[in-house]
Amino acid sequence: MTKQRQVILDELRKSKRHPSADEIYRLARRRLPAISLGTVYRNLRIMADRGLIRVVDSAGLPRRFDGDVGEHYHVECIDCGNVIDLLADRLRNIDEAIRDQCPYEIVGHKLSFRGLCPSCRQARASSGS
Ligand SMILES: [Zn+2]
Ligand SMILES: [Zn+2]
Repeated sequence: MTKQRQVILDELRKSKRHPSADEIYRLARRRLPAISLGTVYRNLRIMADRGLIRVVDSAGLPRRFDGDVGEHYHVECIDCGNVIDLLADRLRNIDEAIRDQCPYEIVGHKLSFRGLCPSCRQARASSGS
């Protein structure tokens, strides 16, 4: 793995914020001042293809990334776009649960949640809308 890719991966794994490519670029640049945004994009794409990182399923743009490829789900705020992790143990057997009712061979699923984060909920309440 190149030094640049290693730094990008490190920064992504350290962050719990599911950063965008721009945010990762800013983090990586502190350690590699000469890195370009194009290099960050290219490495993120390659690492996502190889399963080293996850692209967060989200309605919002810009696209966000996750250094944690372990089994977990996300909830995205519909106002500010912040994404947090959900552990949701109860959903662990979701593939088996639908296997019996589906003629397809199930190989996986995509599932994400949407909601309002506490500060956006408060902002909505105080603006009265
Ligand atoms: Zn929010
Ligand atoms: Zn996550």
